[in-house]
Formats: sequence, structure tokens, C-alpha cells
Amino acid sequence: MSNNETTAPTHFIRQIIERDLAAGKNQGRVHTRFPPEPNGYLHIGHAKSICLNFGIARDYHGLCNLRFDDTNPHKENEDYVNAIQEDVRWLGFDWEERLYYASDYFEKLYGYAVELIEAGKAYVCDLNAQQIREYRGTLTEPGRESPYRTRSVEENLELFRRIRAGEFPDGSRVLRARIDMASPNINMRDPTLYRIRHGVIHHQTGEEWCIYPMYDYTHPISDALEGVTHSLCTLEFEDHRPLYDWVLDNISIDCHPQQIEFSRLNLEYTVMSKRKLTQLVDEGLMAGWDDPRLPTIAGLRRRGYTPAAIRTFCERIGVTKSANSVEMGMLEACIREDLDQHARRALAVLDPLKVVIENYPEDRVEMLDAPYHPKDEAMGSRQLAFTRELYIDRADFREAANKKYKRLVSGGEVRLRNAYVIKCEQVIKNDSGEIVELRCSYDPQTLGANPVGRKVRGVIHWASASHGVRAEVRLYDRLFNHPAPDSDKSVGSFLEHLNPDSLRVVEAVVEPSLGQAVAGDRFQFEREGYFCVDPASSRERMIFNRTVGLRDTWAKIAEQDD
Ligand code: ATP
Ligand code: MG
Repeated sequence: MSNNETTAPTHFIRQIIERDLAAGKNQGRVHTRFPPEPNGYLHIGHAKSICLNFGIARDYHGLCNLRFDDTNPHKENEDYVNAIQEDVRWLGFDWEERLYYASDYFEKLYGYAVELIEAGKAYVCDLNAQQIREYRGTLTEPGRESPYRTRSVEENLELFRRIRAGEFPDGSRVLRARIDMASPNINMRDPTLYRIRHGVIHHQTGEEWCIYPMYDYTHPISDALEGVTHSLCTLEFEDHRPLYDWVLDNISIDCHPQQIEFSRLNLEYTVMSKRKLTQLVDEGLMAGWDDPRLPTIAGLRRRGYTPAAIRTFCERIGVTKSANSVEMGMLEACIREDLDQHARRALAVLDPLKVVIENYPEDRVEMLDAPYHPKDEAMGSRQLAFTRELYIDRADFREAANKKYKRLVSGGEVRLRNAYVIKCEQVIKNDSGEIVELRCSYDPQTLGANPVGRKVRGVIHWASASHGVRAEVRLYDRLFNHPAPDSDKSVGSFLEHLNPDSLRVVEAVVEPSLGQAVAGDRFQFEREGYFCVDPASSRERMIFNRTVGLRDTWAKIAEQDD
């Protein structure tokens, strides 16, 4: 991680931590955790939480654990467990030896439940799910007490033991906290602590358990067992905080982390809910969890994002309590800044139009040296092959255009990047009037720079027809054509807002050096944007993904509309 990242901007959570440190709270320790549920891949919203938790640990000489919140085995699996670890590491963070699973604590959690029962603070309830809902009341009406609330401690202990032993079917009984059915906070109306789940094979504990603890019960205890000092979570848990505290106040555990809530990251033109991302992947609408159109960390990685750009983004968006939606342009600006500095330059023709240099000998090949980066000599240079037959981009030629058009026109001149000035002598069309070839001449005096007194304003990119490399280029656009696809109530499904043009594949011709590029290499294709080599790429078939354009594409659209 580079140095300029260590002075992270302050925010209310850092202020709380600094106050706690100044007051000598937690013996001066700072300990956080990132607690994903392994029921999907991580996305850019999780990156916010990862950067926050691991960033705080780093900056206050504390520790941050990675903990899998695996209490709902039905939707969880080992692939997700592995992918999550890979993504956190890739983002540049290290949990050292502190990799935990909530399921590591199942036995302890059971023990604390027994404690609660013994203290008359939990009971086995035989109401079914529907009845529990009915008894719970509403925001305006208090709940009603379950008829099983007054069971004796002995009966509760015996029943809970038998539940664990597998004597009762799913849904027949639950263990509930005995708190207050009249509480204005519905979460405190005797919440469920345990439910019965037979026949699931947990990815860590196998078939050992047929009861699974609820998140609200598991989370505070897991935090406390790990010695967490500050338990950072998203705002929807604000109303659960009294329950978090109640659990820890009512069991014999001497650590009581402080839960602090912050707002989720929402990004425009995409979705962040794991359920919706799963739907996109499972229904085959995406090529997988790492489809470069998805806001998943794996997708962003495949798209060409760098860990540093994602970390910068997470710092820039800040940490607050107000719900907000961040413009995609902000994420894109972060990767653009990073790649502008670090990506090698290359020439790639995405929509090839053939050019024949009539006064250039057929068998001649000149290897022209071109620096990899205009501002960073240390990056070195590569060789461009100049030959009689070349390609330029179709958009860089017009038969006629006004002076504002600084590219090639019939009878006009343009500079080929890092090479010569050429002049268009003749336009060749096919029977349907489509331009298929340009016959040009080149001026041998113009290699590298214009001779004195000669003005050529336009510079375009090109590739040799014989030495260039054919490549597949995948041009990605917004996944959805609505800024908040999942909050638009006027459509039946967020899928209706999928952008049908989110992926366009073109056959390009790229400069020879790109034939040596390997998966993950990143380039600026001059005048086109930033691209990276897709992992499915091979020597036989090069595939490049567009990471981001050179400018904000939305800004460009606005310009065109003017
Ligand atoms: P979903 O609701 O889509 O299933 P989740 O919040 O349940 O997502 P978890 O795996 O439980 O996903 O999340 C792990 C951690 O990441 C939690 O602390 C959660 O608050 C945080 N997190 C998840 N989504 C976001 C987001 N969009 N912005 C910030 N933090 C997030
Ligand atoms: Mg969750």
C-alpha cells in the first residue's frame, strides 16, 4: 500500500475510536472485524466495510479479524468462503491468523443459551412462524405474550436439550429470548434465538447440528469472544443494537464491544443486494460472479480495476450515517487516475479500416521505438511495426469534414502516432458505397516530428496489418439503464432495467507487442480508454476488457447532445 493512503480522512467512527483511546477504554486496544456471510461474492459495498474495518485496525495499531457469519447453512457454501478470502487479500488486507467462523462458536453459543434459560431469560416456544408473527404486534400495537412464555426453567432446559438431540421437526419449536412483548422496538419482543434445521449439511460443521442460532444472537457473542472493541455494521442494524447489548448484558461474558452503524454504499446503475446478484448469476444473465459488468470485487478485478483504485474510492466516499447513492463516475475517476499513472500505452484499432501506403515498399518493415508512458521513462519502450498495409479506426476518417475534425479526410494529412504523416489520396468503396480501403501516401521526412513550418494537427492511432495482432475486445457499459434499478416501483422486476448493450464485442487489430501481454496486464489504448487482458485470453486468442473510457462517458453523452 502506498504511503499517501495511510493518512485516511477522519470521520465519525474514527472520532469515536480516538475518544475511546484518549479515555483509555478497552485498555487502549482497537479490534475490529469484517463479518461476511458466505452466501455470495463480495461486492464494492463490502469493500467499503473491508477498507473501514481493516483500515482502522491498521491506523490505530489494532487488529481486524475475518469472520464468516455462517449461521444460515441453507444458502452458504465453501466456494463463497474461498472467494471471499481471495477478494479480501486481493484488496490488500491481511487477517493474519485470525480467520474465524461463527460456527466455531456453536458449542459456546449453545452454552450461553442454556445460561439464559437458567436465568429465566429464554424459553422454548411452540408457536409456529405464522403465529409468532401474529403475536409480535406492529409498530403501533404491542405484541402478545406467547402461552409458552411461562414454562419452567426445568422444562425449558429439557426441551432445549431434546431439540438439540434432534427430537423435533423443523418449525415445530424455537428458542426465544424473554424480553418485553410491549417494547416499542419490535426486535426486543422476545426475538427468536434458535431455530431447527434438519437435513442441511453445513460447510464447516457438517451434520453435527440440527439447530442454528440467529444472527442477532450470534453476532454480539462472536464479537465478544474475539475481543472485538468496535463492531461496525450498516445502518439497518441500528434498531438491533438494543438486542446486541441485551445479549451481552445477560450472559457471563466480560467483553462488551460497541456497535456503531454507518450507511451502506449504493452505486448508481447497478445493484448491490446479494440476492439480486445471485439472481443475475444463477439465471445465466451474467457470465459468472466475475462478469466484468458486475459490481463484485471479482468482476471489478476482471474488468481491470486495481486494489489501490478501489481503496481510494472507499476513502473518498467517506463514512457517514446518511443513506446516499454514489455516482458511478466517482468509481471510474479513481481507476482512471491510477491507470493514467501506471498503465502502459498501446495502439489498438477497434474498428479497423484498411490503409495502403502506396509509396511504401511492399516488403519493408520498420520497427519504430515508442515509449510506454509519456511521463515515465522508467517504463521503457516497445517497437511498433510500420508496414505498407495498416489499419486505422473507421471513426478517424471522413470524406469531408470541417476544420474542427482533426483526423483524416480525403486529400488531407494526419499524423500516425509515433510514426509518419500520411495523406489520403483515394477512397475505395464497395458496391454498396461502403468505404473499404484508403489509398494513402506517407512523407518519409516526418518520422517522430513535423519538419519546420509544417502543420499537422491531428494524431491518430494505427496498427500494422501484417504485424498487428487480431484480438477480441469487450466493451462494457452500464449494467442497467436506470440509476436505481432496484428501487423503481413502476416495473415488475429490476431485470427490466438491464441494459441490453452492456457488452459489445469487437474484432480489433492491436499493436504487435500486445501479443505478449498476459492476463491482468493493463494498458491505455491511446484515444480509446483503459483495457486489460482477460484471464480467458491465450496466445492464440487475445481478449481485452475495457476497464473504463478515457473520459466520463456520461459527460461525453451530454456533450454530444449539446
Ligand atoms: P445483503 O444484504 O446483500 O445479503 P449483507 O449486508 O447481508 O448483504 P454480509 O455478508 O452480511 O452481506 O456483509 C458483510 C459486511 O459488509 C457487513 O458488516 C455489512 O454491513 C457490510 N456491507 C454489506 N453491504 C454493504 C454496503 N453496500 N456498504 C457497506 N457495507 C456493506
Ligand atoms: Mg448480512
